[in-house]
Amino acid sequence: MAAVSREETGVELDGVTVRFGDVAALRDVSLTVEEGEFFTLVGPSGCGKTTTLRAIAGFETPATGVVRIEGREMEGVPPEDRNLGVVFQNYALFPHLSVRENVAYGLRFHDPPDEGTADERVADLLSLVDMADMADRDPEDLSGGQQQRVALARALAPGPDVLLLDEPLSALDARLRERLRVTLKEIQRDLGITTVYVTHDQAEALAVSDRVAVINDGRIEQVDTPERVYREPASRFVAAFVGDNNRFEAVVTRTNPPRASVDGTDVALSDDTVVGANEPVTLCVRPEAIRVVDGGVEPSGTATTTLSATVESREFLGDAYRVHCRWNDRSILVKTGGERPPEGDVHLTFDAEDVRVLTDE
Ligand code: ATP
Repeated sequence: MAAVSREETGVELDGVTVRFGDVAALRDVSLTVEEGEFFTLVGPSGCGKTTTLRAIAGFETPATGVVRIEGREMEGVPPEDRNLGVVFQNYALFPHLSVRENVAYGLRFHDPPDEGTADERVADLLSLVDMADMADRDPEDLSGGQQQRVALARALAPGPDVLLLDEPLSALDARLRERLRVTLKEIQRDLGITTVYVTHDQAEALAVSDRVAVINDGRIEQVDTPERVYREPASRFVAAFVGDNNRFEAVVTRTNPPRASVDGTDVALSDDTVVGANEPVTLCVRPEAIRVVDGGVEPSGTATTTLSATVESREFLGDAYRVHCRWNDRSILVKTGGERPPEGDVHLTFDAEDVRVLTDE
């Protein structure tokens, strides 16, 4: 019997382990995707993203743990009875069928989910993905982005409970990928369909998702909103994988107010940091949190750390500069908008609030 709290649940994995021979591709993975949520699995190649999606779809059987969809346990339920829409990286449209016929194929075993006819359903979906005027074309006469929109329409045709998307944009060029992810997000929001999205591209994950699960080596490192994953990474892995980060191994020298030492240099930590005296920690400072001040100007501010560094190179990005600096044989990356940053000897300053302290192993 489904618990009351599960009524709002789109997909649930509870202690799922998937093995291939001796390899555990997923290790005790538990996560909950809320109904209507755009939920993204992100992580490096081979971390287990596709395996997670395949376990939800029913193509892999967990060695332990359970998968639930809309509160219903899926053990023994074959893929075709799970009411899922699936889109993979390689469009997989039928080349001998027209665009319209490809979308209609999604309805071959299902009645349309609403009152209308199958033809009306196909027409509605082609409008939704903005392909109505290409309904009679063959897939081979479409661009990659257009093919993916048809694949999406086909997956949505039977009105699935959940949409599973495995790197659907990765075969497209960067500009098209950015455009299509906005379209995808809009369609998902309009339909309110629970969506599990797989990508290795952390920037894409941050851009489209309501929440993100960062996976590393078959384990979940963090599940959070994009903002929290970026600003408050829960582990060293997340801090390194999501966005650029400057990381420093340090030792806590004082707990009140909290301070740490990096190679003898004092770094001010935020007052709400909870650390123990002499504890080894990793400090993370985002490139955009660091200011570059000309070496001749004395920086000020009590909650501020100052490092005397040298600028090695500057890249102009259009909306900002990336400044590569050297401090005590370490590379430090700074990202700064506005004026061209100074060269040569500089002070790098950052505030205690912008230092993320990590204590995981
Ligand atoms: P990518 O981004 O490269 O697609 P991924 O995160 O989706 O990677 P998975 O495809 O889920 O990773 O693979 C997870 C692990 O399981 C990898 O070590 C992979 O080699 C292994 N694996 C996946 N499928 C099989 C299989 N059918 N047989 C044996 N090992 C497999």
